[in-house]
Amino acid sequence: MIVMKFGGTSVEDARAMNTMIEVVSRERQRNPVVVLSAIAGATNTLLGTAQFAVESKLDDANRLLNELLERHVLILENLITQRSNIQELILEVRRRFDEMKNLCQGIAILGELTNRSRDAIASVGERLSTLIVARAMVEHGLPAELVDARSFMVTDDRYVSATPLFPHIEERTRALLAPKIASGTIIVTQGFIGSTVNGITTTLGRGGSDYSAAIIGATLGAEEIQIWTDVDGVLTADPRIVTAAKKLKVISFREASELAYFGARVLHPSTILPAVKKNIPVIVLNSKRPNSTGTRIVADPPKSNAAVKSIASKKGITVINIQSTRMLMAYGFLESIFSVFSRHTTPVDLVATSEVAVSLTIDNSNQLGDIVKDLEQFAEVSVLNNKAILCIVGEQMHSTVGIADRIFRALADINVVMISQGASEINMSLVIDEAQINEAVKRLHGEFFEPIPALEIFESIGVN
Ligand code: ASP
Repeated sequence: MIVMKFGGTSVEDARAMNTMIEVVSRERQRNPVVVLSAIAGATNTLLGTAQFAVESKLDDANRLLNELLERHVLILENLITQRSNIQELILEVRRRFDEMKNLCQGIAILGELTNRSRDAIASVGERLSTLIVARAMVEHGLPAELVDARSFMVTDDRYVSATPLFPHIEERTRALLAPKIASGTIIVTQGFIGSTVNGITTTLGRGGSDYSAAIIGATLGAEEIQIWTDVDGVLTADPRIVTAAKKLKVISFREASELAYFGARVLHPSTILPAVKKNIPVIVLNSKRPNSTGTRIVADPPKSNAAVKSIASKKGITVINIQSTRMLMAYGFLESIFSVFSRHTTPVDLVATSEVAVSLTIDNSNQLGDIVKDLEQFAEVSVLNNKAILCIVGEQMHSTVGIADRIFRALADINVVMISQGASEINMSLVIDEAQINEAVKRLHGEFFEPIPALEIFESIGVN
């Protein structure tokens, strides 16, 4: 069996839903379990409604709910063909919205919005999208059945970002889903939502549908997990910077994780961890171009001639140089530095050290003033603003001679203020002036990807 997860833009309107149903039906022989997000924007709207309610702005809350209700009605009127099905679904959808209006009233009266209520409201988005799609699939002649994720996605009660309880989930997916799959049923279920052992609705955190798909795939031993989104997959560079950017056909999980920090807006690596641990390939695909091949994210990709897989960059970086002769031969010095950053809840990204100095980068400089003041208690500190990180990623880089030479030749006249290599063994990160970052990315892309170095790994975008 396979898991096919469709994100919000893949179910944003009747047309998108028709395309996704088409995509599912061509995979029918592979026993798909279909995991859906809410229609694009619905979760934000629902949470916005709850916020209005707690501020006693019930008119605004009701306006948002009515707009969302109309969107769902429009979708189902354009998607569903049988009159009786349309009427039944409209009644059902209206009932859900009436419930939400009541809930909002309660929130307004109490003047309190708990995370438990937030989850109750947010869960409606996924419950509606799946309700509509499952019915449409049946109309298309597919043996689809809606299974409420709350019957098997058991979590703890940390509402808003609940943790899945794997032993329970395994037991329930085997008991509830496996027999249906075996008998040829196409299960349609919600991503993002779950429930406590006592049956109270929870959510796995924003963007949690990918996580749901990975959990379902891992517990049922799926052959692959398809994540349908609105991007082509993982690229060799940001196409807004490099028009000749290529798509990676395959990438390792570790490479994809490094790239995630740089805004490769594909998926958050921790969400697919359950699949990676079980060695199940995750394929990112574009539902706007359903014939394109996407990017496979796998634990161990095939070896190739291409040591470098992608060039990423991030602007808005601040470098902090910390110097102290007390650091020489001392222990505990790094600990005192990092405790300052943790006290000011600021993540540190790159770090480079010498015997008497530490350089590090942050991308959130909100607490910079306080951080510097605290560091100055025990060291000399200087700050460089308007920097950017240039990151070159590839599993085989560390075992390939000559990569550093090619990088530094291509960047010969660009000043490099910091270098970090080795931590993950799969990337080299350089810090340069923000003003030169696009030029640097273009040059490195030219050096490593033009022409395409390995056809089994890369392909031009827009071929399908
Ligand atoms: N609908 C939820 C959200 O917008 C979950 C998801 O789409 O992954 O966060």
